[in-house]
Amino acid sequence: MTYTKFAFWLVFFFTLSCKSEAQKKQQFKVQKSEAEWKSQLTDLQYYVLRQEGTERAFSSPLDKNYSAGTYVCAACETPLFLSDHKYNSGSGWPSFDREIQGNVAFSVDYNIGVARTEEHCATCGGHLGHVFNDGPRQTTGRRHCINGAALKFIPKDE
Ligand SMILES: [Zn+2]
Repeated sequence: MTYTKFAFWLVFFFTLSCKSEAQKKQQFKVQKSEAEWKSQLTDLQYYVLRQEGTERAFSSPLDKNYSAGTYVCAACETPLFLSDHKYNSGSGWPSFDREIQGNVAFSVDYNIGVARTEEHCATCGGHLGHVFNDGPRQTTGRRHCINGAALKFIPKDE
């Protein structure tokens, strides 16, 4: 390899690595400091939304909530899921067969050693849960397994 070629690849390599660094620090429309989130959210909401925690199975009152309405982000109130798409997966977490498109964003995490599709609020970046492929076959086949602590339920009549 000539020196010029080598220099070219070196520049190319550094350009690439800078780019991936920038992508990690994704910007969201609603941005708050960790201290601000901490004062706004309950301990459990903070643990789930900001630290990618998982609430205990069967602990959320929203798991068995089947009233008509909209599930919004507990941190920034962006509408994320509709009651029409909620179903009883038996997992102990609120489950939906689809999200409100565009309001939920996805990434991959390796928190338990295997690749899982993580999902978060597209407006504030708050962690919601994970998507699995064992959902209802007659609809989407997807199971959005969501922490109830990350959601706030707005009944249809209000
Ligand atoms: Zn949000």
